[in-house]
Amino acid sequence: MAEINHAIKGTNDVLPKESYKIQFVENIMLSTAKLYGFREIRVPVFEHTEVFSRNVGDTTDVVQKEMYTFDDKGGRSITLRPELTAGVVRSSIEHGLIYDALPQKVCYIGGCYRYEKPQAGRLREFHQFGIECLGASSPAADAEVICVANQVLSTLGIKKISLQINSIGCPICRKNYQQALKEYFEANIDELCDTCKDRLQRNPMRILDCKSPVCSKLAANAPKVIDFLCDDCKEHFEGVKKHLDSAGLKYTINPQIVRGLDYYTRTVFEFVSGDIGAQSTVCGGGRYDGLVEQMGGNPTPALGFGMGIERLLLLMENQETEIPDDTTCDLYIAPMGENAAYEATKLSSILRSDGFEVATDVCGRGLKAQMKYADKIGAKFTMVIGDNELESKKAIIKNMKTGDTAEISLDNIGDEFIKTFSQTYLDNLTDTVMDFGN
Ligand code: ATP
Ligand code: MG
Repeated sequence: MAEINHAIKGTNDVLPKESYKIQFVENIMLSTAKLYGFREIRVPVFEHTEVFSRNVGDTTDVVQKEMYTFDDKGGRSITLRPELTAGVVRSSIEHGLIYDALPQKVCYIGGCYRYEKPQAGRLREFHQFGIECLGASSPAADAEVICVANQVLSTLGIKKISLQINSIGCPICRKNYQQALKEYFEANIDELCDTCKDRLQRNPMRILDCKSPVCSKLAANAPKVIDFLCDDCKEHFEGVKKHLDSAGLKYTINPQIVRGLDYYTRTVFEFVSGDIGAQSTVCGGGRYDGLVEQMGGNPTPALGFGMGIERLLLLMENQETEIPDDTTCDLYIAPMGENAAYEATKLSSILRSDGFEVATDVCGRGLKAQMKYADKIGAKFTMVIGDNELESKKAIIKNMKTGDTAEISLDNIGDEFIKTFSQTYLDNLTDTVMDFGN
């Protein structure tokens, strides 16, 4: 019984008093992406398990330990998406996007599911905003994708966040690098954690991602992938840096960044902040030139990023970033008596179709209780209607902040309320300007 009264560990409820913050953030994400031509794509929350197990990489933490996988009633192996790129690529091949005008630019916001140890900034259900650019091989595309993430973060007012970039090359340069890494870690094999001993055989680059202190200390002195790049990859990386310079972005090159998923090639990047504790990466992404072909499409260079929305909100909270307050109720209409209640319904519906947020009594309460409620929901104006008002077709509207009152005609409520409301708004504006003047 206790269980049905609690959300599952690692999941969050977003209550009405908080949801406006997420809406604010998500609106900026989608509208910023649109400035660069990225349009929303929506893909299912669950896919055939192979969509992830074969493409995210079977030596990654995500696939090895973190996926929510189950058999459905038809005996199919199903997985709740741990990220969206694989599903988006699956969909783009299935619906021929990659055979249409290239590049195809898509963006998404959606829930992701990973069986991880819940802690600050690490959940079992979390949400990602992300973009994918399919069919673009030039370094200009890498910079454009990075610029989208950067502009989202700066529009939101995030401070002190650093962009770190690296290149992990193509399968050709990586072969030599993997060999050098293997030799380096083999010489220190006794110090590696058990998981990394296994990684050493299967995918030594994963060791660079290990969070255990000993392994990460060893990793800091390991050979750097950037020293093993072939000429093409080197040239590409130089191009990315030049385009980032042209866009005015500051970045540091961090040879430690290899990213958690297998499908990356060449450019990888992260936006990292010291203001959110251990889970410091807010956004991670990169190029994945081999993935589309691996998933059955024509060879198509591509890249993208994923940004953790909860982690971003945590950062905004820690940095006390301002989020515009949810607009509260514009007007509370308090009817007294049955006839007044009908009038209140009529007036409310007129004003709501004019775009005002209006509340009226839906509980059959007396005047005192209604006013208490109006105060609680932060109504900007209140208006009482009883028999006198019904007869005179006039009512008093009260500004709850200043206490000012004005008489308005009920027959012409739309126009009159707009007048009073916008006058107050202008007064507020003048006050603010005067404040700045001081
Ligand atoms: P980490 O190193 O923190 O585990 P990751 O490399 O697994 O991150 P990605 O797969 O690149 O993360 O996902 C992109 C972004 O999604 C991360 O930068 C982060 O902001 C967010 N994210 C990833 N896992 C979680 C999680 N369990 N809870 C909340 N946000 C997450
Ligand atoms: Mg992870």
